[in-house]
Amino acid sequence: MIDLHIHTSASDGTYSPKDIVSLAFKKNLRAIAITDHDTIEGTAEAVREGKKVGLEVIPGVEISVEWNNSSIHILGYYIDGTKKVLSSELNNLIRYREERNPRIIEKLNSLGIDISYDEVKTAAGEGTVGRPHFAQILIEKGYVKNGNEAFRKYLQRGASAYVDKKRLSPEEGIHLIEEAGGIAVLAHPFMIDSIGENKMEELILKLKQMGIKGIEALYPTHTVQQTLQLKTIAEKYNLLLTGGSDFHGKQKPKIHLGTGFGKLRVPYELVIRMKKALKG
Ligand code: AMP
Ligand code: ZN
Ligand code: FE
Ligand code: FE
Repeated sequence: MIDLHIHTSASDGTYSPKDIVSLAFKKNLRAIAITDHDTIEGTAEAVREGKKVGLEVIPGVEISVEWNNSSIHILGYYIDGTKKVLSSELNNLIRYREERNPRIIEKLNSLGIDISYDEVKTAAGEGTVGRPHFAQILIEKGYVKNGNEAFRKYLQRGASAYVDKKRLSPEEGIHLIEEAGGIAVLAHPFMIDSIGENKMEELILKLKQMGIKGIEALYPTHTVQQTLQLKTIAEKYNLLLTGGSDFHGKQKPKIHLGTGFGKLRVPYELVIRMKKALKG
């Protein structure tokens, strides 16, 4: 089994890239992909560690792009980190985060919550700051019981301390991944706000015209029915399938590496198909 959707401490996961590799090795996974939000800072370490222990590690990324006033996530696999366009564009994305984050603090403060950006940055350590780090401080300070409550009350779109951040368009996100030699894949399609079964095929077709090569059909929160629908669409439009847990370590304690909520199984064969597609 494999896991193609993993966050490390380079973004909002709690395990270092090295620790992810050890954990995956212990769990007998045959391949993993590191897919941090807007950064590839963790990929080189993971690839290096993977070589040491004999675990296949795919360098990847997860980019949020703008779609209908909401956000969709595009995964990139087999990213070549040496490409200049990529690092400069990813730096822009990190800058958009840094523009947004203090504004979340202002909103929280105006709601009477005692929280500083320094505290949030400390929670993020060396990694890029994401909303889960705000959630972590809100939990630590007793304002909420858990991450779900933090997002529901304060951090999710529409909640009282939500601040939008500038994002790339889907075309820009997909092209960036292509320019870095990667395969662009639509992440967790059924996590997209206000997407129903009846709009899914239309969205995927549009994204395929923009260059996505696959869809993440296997994902912890997808129902059997939803997974089946995505597989059918993938077959119809000749798209690759991928799957992963979206592991964040202790940041999302119910999600386990490789198995998600416990039932996820992603076959190695999907990696073979990706590699074939890369060779063209
Ligand atoms: P950011 O990159 O700062 O916009 O934060 C995105 C992160 O927040 C991702 O890891 C998401 O999984 C997480 N996230 C977004 N919405 C929610 C939610 N409603 N509940 C829990 N986590 C969420
Ligand atoms: Zn995350
Ligand atoms: Fe995502
Ligand atoms: Fe993710």
